[in-house]
Amino acid sequence: MNYLMRVVLLAAFAMLAALPLRAASLIRDPDIENALSELAQPVLLAAGMPSSGTRILVVNDPALNAFVIDTQHIFLHSGLILRLKSAAELQAVIAHEVAHIQNGHIARRMQNMQRASTVAGFGVALAAATAATTGETAAAGALARGIMGAATQNFMSHTRTEESAADASGLRYLIRAGIDPSAYLRVFDLFRGQELLTPTQQDTYARSHPLSRDRFRAMEALIKAAPNAAPTNPQAEYWMARAQAKLGAFLRAPTWAQTEARKQEHADLAQMMQAIAWHRLPDSAQAIAAIDRLALAHPEDPFVHELRGQILLESRRVDQAVSAYRRATELAPRNALILAGYGRAMLAAGQPREARDILERARARDFRNVSVLRDLAMAYAKNNERGMASVVTAERYALLGQFADARLHANRALGQVTPGSRAGIRAQDVLSGAEAALAK
Ligand SMILES: [Zn+2]
Repeated sequence: MNYLMRVVLLAAFAMLAALPLRAASLIRDPDIENALSELAQPVLLAAGMPSSGTRILVVNDPALNAFVIDTQHIFLHSGLILRLKSAAELQAVIAHEVAHIQNGHIARRMQNMQRASTVAGFGVALAAATAATTGETAAAGALARGIMGAATQNFMSHTRTEESAADASGLRYLIRAGIDPSAYLRVFDLFRGQELLTPTQQDTYARSHPLSRDRFRAMEALIKAAPNAAPTNPQAEYWMARAQAKLGAFLRAPTWAQTEARKQEHADLAQMMQAIAWHRLPDSAQAIAAIDRLALAHPEDPFVHELRGQILLESRRVDQAVSAYRRATELAPRNALILAGYGRAMLAAGQPREARDILERARARDFRNVSVLRDLAMAYAKNNERGMASVVTAERYALLGQFADARLHANRALGQVTPGSRAGIRAQDVLSGAEAALAK
């Protein structure tokens, strides 16, 4: 997959192989996450949540689903994002998930986890184990565990009472944010009929958020009583189009992207889709020509330069890729995913010391990125810092939930670093966390 976006395997729990679990992979793309964040802002504001405290992450999964696992992350499946028809519909989905957070349904589920099943027992063990480790590793473990939990579906599902409460709150947020409340019903329509299917045929959303005729009728009544439909917001529609264009261009066939590009009303998004389509065919000459034109037309757009860096790097034009990523980081110096790309390009360019420093900055801003840890370990190794390479590798396995491997590398690190040093403390933290998780 040379067209790979930041696809990250987040949860692969070999020890739970007996359970029907799927590994959840996240699509970490700075452009898509930025667009989703722009769409989420007004909803989070209307719900009284700090706008920077909640991230929207994309799960690479065609099934229609959205879920929350803690108060800081809302997960949307790629399949759902691509199927929704407007910004307001996506914002309705986000409003519903935000309502689950604000109504305290997450805290309740965390308690339920402590009573139920082997998976839950494991989750508690991990929570206890990670409490002893650094904040980063703790949060990372909770994230991996949460996605695992969500993957088990019925384990993470909400009650009907919770659904009704989330609907009412979610609708209030939409109205307060000036977003068309009837979008909520159109999202319901998308899932309608799911309840008539057998559980194995149902899409996951219907199982984690039980739908019912009563719930639909209640919402219809609430929306009828709501103020008149808000006008569509062109800026929000643009961000929705941008998220769908980039996601679709990478996930669907290049021929689909070429056809859609011709229908695309935003010229920059059409060019972006064409560049990605050519890149994936692959036709790197055409792809580079297209992305160069786009960068020339939008010199201040950090995400265009980031995509240009990715296309150049994957076309093995490493020095040009470094320049493109450098420009992107100048325009968005705090964007962890852009820094991650810059660091990877520096590593490919044979500059491990610079790569290490950039990747450390990326990791400090976002612990969720497994590929950053892989690149960072490589940068340390190439820089002859073997102890740190082992520490970071141990942390990567802890993030993946692979605790036997985490323990192995933490032990290796302890034999290489100075006891009591920062690296030594980190290795010891991972070791304690992994051992506690494995003891359960
Ligand atoms: Zn729900």
